[in-house]
Amino acid sequence: MSTRTGIGYDAHRLENGRPLWLGGVQIDFQAGLAGHSDGDALIHAMVDAILGAAGLGDIGTHFPSSDPQYRGASSIRFLQHTAKLLEQQGWHVTNLDATIIAEHPKLAPVAENMRQVIAESLGLHQSQVNVKSTTSDGMGFSGRGDGIAAMAIATIEDKS
Ligand code: MG
Repeated sequence: MSTRTGIGYDAHRLENGRPLWLGGVQIDFQAGLAGHSDGDALIHAMVDAILGAAGLGDIGTHFPSSDPQYRGASSIRFLQHTAKLLEQQGWHVTNLDATIIAEHPKLAPVAENMRQVIAESLGLHQSQVNVKSTTSDGMGFSGRGDGIAAMAIATIEDKS
């Protein structure tokens, strides 16, 4: 058996009046993340971490924003498709850990819900997925509330 890890990072702008999707969960807030898809920066960071671990490039290669089929798409679809790509290469995800960097809203109350949705979409146990959140103490784009960032690390194993 071999084990590999991959890292992912993403950030999206917050725009007033858009629905806020993070970790596959819609969160009640006055602004949402802009993007060609639903703007879910956490899922995008996780997809990049998983693809990175398997040496399969990045999210932009597999789900180009120029492709109209991904307009407004649920990013959970990207995650599920990524897991399938991995399976074709003999890999499976064994652990995902992530940190969201956002000044507002408070995300700790929805972190468990995100874990559940992400784990379910990948056929994992909830304990194999972890979601944390932090602020940047008022500094920079996330501190000003201009956007939300997320970083993730994925661990994958092969089937043998
Ligand atoms: Mg993105």
